Amino acid sequence: MVTALKNRLSYHRRLFLLLLAFSWTLVACFVLFQYGREKHFKAEQLNARLQLLNLRMLDAVDEGTPPEAFIARQNNDFGDLRVTVMDRNGSVLFDNSLDSLPASNHLDRPEVAEAVARGTGYTIRRHSESTHRNYFYSAMLGEEHIVRTAVPYSLPLSEVLAADREFLWFMLGVTLLMSVAGYFATRRLGQNITRLNEFAQRAERGERIDTPGAFPHDELGEISSHIIRLYARLQKTTADRDREHALALHEEQEKIRIKKQLTNNINHELKTPVAAIQGYLETLLANPGLNAEKRTDFLEKSAAQTGRLRSLLADISTMTRMDEASELIRKEPVVLNDLIAETAADMELKPAEQRLRVNVDFPRQVEVVGSPSLLASVFRNLADNAAAYSGGRDIFIRLVDDTPEECTILFADNGIGIGEEHLPHIFERFYRIDKGRSRKQGGTGLGLAIVKNAVAIHGGTITARNRDRGGLEFVFTLKKQG
Ligand code: ADP
Repeated sequence: MVTALKNRLSYHRRLFLLLLAFSWTLVACFVLFQYGREKHFKAEQLNARLQLLNLRMLDAVDEGTPPEAFIARQNNDFGDLRVTVMDRNGSVLFDNSLDSLPASNHLDRPEVAEAVARGTGYTIRRHSESTHRNYFYSAMLGEEHIVRTAVPYSLPLSEVLAADREFLWFMLGVTLLMSVAGYFATRRLGQNITRLNEFAQRAERGERIDTPGAFPHDELGEISSHIIRLYARLQKTTADRDREHALALHEEQEKIRIKKQLTNNINHELKTPVAAIQGYLETLLANPGLNAEKRTDFLEKSAAQTGRLRSLLADISTMTRMDEASELIRKEPVVLNDLIAETAADMELKPAEQRLRVNVDFPRQVEVVGSPSLLASVFRNLADNAAAYSGGRDIFIRLVDDTPEECTILFADNGIGIGEEHLPHIFERFYRIDKGRSRKQGGTGLGLAIVKNAVAIHGGTITARNRDRGGLEFVFTLKKQG
């Protein structure tokens, strides 16, 4: 029943009803209290009048006046007056309301007992089962007699209320005002509580909460907004952390995947030259009578494969060093201009058909804190690639930007460039566009992957694009402090 009411009535209604019940109970209590006070006052007043009558009656009786004569002399302003005369032992000697005198002793009547004890006494009690009316009894102890007078007694509530009408109206007015004010106050409170409750339910369902929403502007509203904002922040932090964890996990898985792929690729790349060398050597061993020319050819081929193996191992070792111990790589001040000069000098050593003109536009000396060998490998790999694959005539090395934090360098050739579809993959390990050509040029498929990692280890990034005028262009940044 209570739960049903709870479900049907909003929190505000329930709160308001409670307030109404409270304030109207207060009014009812006040009226009851007033009634009690008035009753007491009226009783005292009536008692005083009856006791006066009792006193005169006692005098009259003591003087020997018969009670009927005394009653008859009274101009009866009490209406239905009942008079009882008893001796001091409680035996009824006279009663004007009874035809025959009762045999019962009246000392046990409360008002009589009180009069015997204190001289006077009064009580209000039900007169009879049939009349159901209250009678007011007032008794007095005399020298020889006890006189008791009684009148019907009633004090209607309306009479009491009428006595304090103004105050009652005032009370009613205040209560009404309180009820109206209470309605609005509880409405606010109710709205706040309802919103907070809705929010709590949404939070429990795990819904996403971004803004606190509108709350009435009072303390509870503010507290609610704060709580919700706090919750939203917490939710966001948790979501961010989850995302970070997922990202970290993905990166970790990706690393494992790449490593696996690398191991497979390395196996594959190593197998080819090893198989070739084995083949040549076995042929030579199996055919001791082979002519000198063939023998030299086989041995030269084996030597070439050995060279290929050596550069493959060197590149793999560089990659592994960068992958696994990048923080151990020793860094020191390196002047880029010197590395570029070395690159140009190396170009001069290449066979004429591969030799390119190196155009350097490096107007000032640029120094970065980094690994000399890795930084040299960046320029060397780019230059070797341009010489091996571009088919162009020139290499351009230009300082694009130089700030105290980092420098930006452009490395380009004026060759044939590469197909757009290959561009996104050229930095991948063992990615080659023309496998045969790469092998022929002594390429390992790791050149650009080494370049990219080396740049990354120096806090930079590298991009590649085909130049409008033809040729491939790399732009990379290097942090000055490594
Ligand atoms: P590789 O060891 O085969 O040289 P790289 O990672 O250095 O491997 O290069 C990947 C591929 O990108 C090469 O096989 C080549 O086809 C292509 N490439 C690299 N640089 C150039 C360039 N300057 N011009 C044209 N193609 C290039």
